[in-house]
Amino acid sequence: MRYAEVVVEIAAESVSHVFTYRVPEGMEVKPGMRVLVPFGPRKVEGYALRLREDPGGVPEKKVRPVLRTLEDYPALLPALVDLAYWLTEKTRCLPVEALRLMLPAQMRGGRVKEKTAQYAELCCGEAGFDALLAAEARAPRRQQILLALREGPRPAAQLRALSADGFKNLVSRGIVVLRDERTLREPFVAQTPDAACEPELTADQQAVLEQILPPLERGEGRFLLYGVTGSGKTEVYIRAVRRALQLGKAAIVLVPEIALTPQMTSWFRARFGQDAAVLHSRLSAGERFDEWTRIRRGEARVVIGARSAVFAPCERLGLIIVDEEHEQSYLSDKHPRYDAREVAQRRCEQEGGLLLLASATPSLKTFARALPNMKSALGPLTLVEMPRRVQGRPLPDVEIVDMRRELARGNTSVFSGRLETALRACLARGEQAMLFINRRGYSTFVSCRSCGYVVKCPDCDVSMTYHRDGDVLRCHYCGREEKPPRACPACGSRYIRYFGAGTQKVEEALHERFPGVGSIRMDLDTTGGKDAHARLLDAFRRGEAQVLIGTQMIAKGLDFPRVTLVGVVAADATLNLPDYRSQERAFELIVQVAGRAGRAQRKGLVIVQTYDPRNYAIEAAARQDFRAFFETEFNRRRRGLFPPFTLLTRILIESADEKLAQSLAEAYEQELQALFAREPQLRRQAVQMRAMEAPVKRLRGRARFQVFCKLYARGPTPQVLAAMREIAARPVEGAQVFLEVDPANMI
Ligand code: ADP
Ligand code: ZN
Ligand code: ZN
Repeated sequence: MRYAEVVVEIAAESVSHVFTYRVPEGMEVKPGMRVLVPFGPRKVEGYALRLREDPGGVPEKKVRPVLRTLEDYPALLPALVDLAYWLTEKTRCLPVEALRLMLPAQMRGGRVKEKTAQYAELCCGEAGFDALLAAEARAPRRQQILLALREGPRPAAQLRALSADGFKNLVSRGIVVLRDERTLREPFVAQTPDAACEPELTADQQAVLEQILPPLERGEGRFLLYGVTGSGKTEVYIRAVRRALQLGKAAIVLVPEIALTPQMTSWFRARFGQDAAVLHSRLSAGERFDEWTRIRRGEARVVIGARSAVFAPCERLGLIIVDEEHEQSYLSDKHPRYDAREVAQRRCEQEGGLLLLASATPSLKTFARALPNMKSALGPLTLVEMPRRVQGRPLPDVEIVDMRRELARGNTSVFSGRLETALRACLARGEQAMLFINRRGYSTFVSCRSCGYVVKCPDCDVSMTYHRDGDVLRCHYCGREEKPPRACPACGSRYIRYFGAGTQKVEEALHERFPGVGSIRMDLDTTGGKDAHARLLDAFRRGEAQVLIGTQMIAKGLDFPRVTLVGVVAADATLNLPDYRSQERAFELIVQVAGRAGRAQRKGLVIVQTYDPRNYAIEAAARQDFRAFFETEFNRRRRGLFPPFTLLTRILIESADEKLAQSLAEAYEQELQALFAREPQLRRQAVQMRAMEAPVKRLRGRARFQVFCKLYARGPTPQVLAAMREIAARPVEGAQVFLEVDPANMI
């Protein structure tokens, strides 16, 4: 094969196709290898995806040669090249943008140097060893070095530490020889697998494994594991992973944010030792590259990592587990915008693996796929359940506090009487407490503190958002605008105002009521640094403070044995997000947070403060009753025509020129309307369509407009979506145009 089809490492529409290069005599290029090629006057890196015998229609004279290969092995596995092409279709990105996801970023531009170290070994084999040892009878240090080397090669540095002179002597006499070898920077100290910590499975764990292992062995299957907090999901993951390894296959375990799940990592390390590789954002560039290399070489066959670990270079993939599958962090927040759960499913289908999504609070969209008659573009899932906690440990008690009553009693503080009393008791016992407050900076809703009334859009049934500029309430879905009321439309109270207590305000109130009590605050302000998250959490774990105050970022998978009280300071902040998923988010938050209280021996107490105590999401969360919540919410979605019954899509236009952005939005809407006029059957695919300002109308100095379109989600992809896609793909001078389908949020 003398020619290579190369995707060059330049992210521009104009060079998005493959270029043909000649492979010079004597150079070995395999599909998937990274190569250096001439490109115009420059030399650029590229990916040799295919090899062929002919130059594919390019005149021989014009074909330039590959300059060299960048590694002596294919960095890209064939399955990952296929996956990249699927992603370009799916997310409308350039091939090179998708291929980049498959490799550690540091690999490009040769920024990571392989680290080499000196190794020492014995010149002779086992045969002459005794004689050698006897000859050094008068030099105990040298004997020590020889004995160490008898087991196999050792890093020279270790032996020098035993005796620098003795080592030098042995090397100079040729008894010990040195060589350079590539070493891997491992982010964790090697641990030998510990079989002793193998617990006996609970009946629930056993039953789940009996259902998922046979398909795993056959190389197929898609499951949703719904297991309450503390039901022992991790042990199920470990057993499934082990079976994959026994079959000679690899496994990937995705977690929402690995820095927040140190426990999961340490369990996997303890059980799989060197076979486990960890990929997360706190690794240095070098460490990340080395972990990637261990996976690529097949030395580590279990990968634990956040979203991007779904692209880990595992060969013979047998299993992908997605822990806490409801988490938003599985959606990529930058281009290419992929959903790691969908990518995982695609990889499993393509490579013959089992997909296991798991959560104590599955997302509505995922759970619906496990219903008998629900049609989904992603296909059905089989539901397996673990409804009980391990060893009969009780779920915590959840109490709901009606904040309207507090106001009626004259308490305007952020702490209800009940929370204050419970906090006092917890602190007196020397235990720890966590206080949650969920507030996103850009959204404010208007609510009545006397009766709990919240201003909602009559068309969309989501909270309207207050915009200071213009003093107006706006619906983030349909664009409807209203004047904020001066008095409560429901009860007439003047206590109707913009809602919001931040973490800082809660901390101040805490110090006022409980002088001298140590607290740690975690929010976007305090967790800016690289290691801030872990540092603050470690401090809390060590008991440096009794109270941890934070946003929902502290609600995930944490395990603090000394926490016995959890306060949700204002559940309403989540209930009233300007998002059709706000009820789902509130339910999730309370259940996950409650899962943090009393994980060890002592029973936990959770106090949820709200102005809407009868809300079904809050009531169901207090009982930890996912099914009850699901039923109600699913019907609400059906009535309100929200996903999974519809697809929310928009063409988003960003431009420094506001007029341009607006006129583009209007022109696109008209174009789609004209399409409906021509083909009336397409009209029936759309519930509503409208050009309007984006909810956040300026971002980073650019004006934002959108054409919002709600489509019925039944059967195959609607043609309207295809038309929107076509519009968004057109290059426009002075503006950027994106198509978003069911984005994580519509800001
Ligand atoms: P989940 O992820 O479902 O919330 P975990 O996997 O964190 O639950 O498990 C909860 C606790 O139960 C952990 O402390 C774990 O060590 C323990 N555990 C899990 N399985 C068993 C078992 N079969 N026997 C005893 N303890 C177990
Ligand atoms: Zn009111
Ligand atoms: Zn609306």
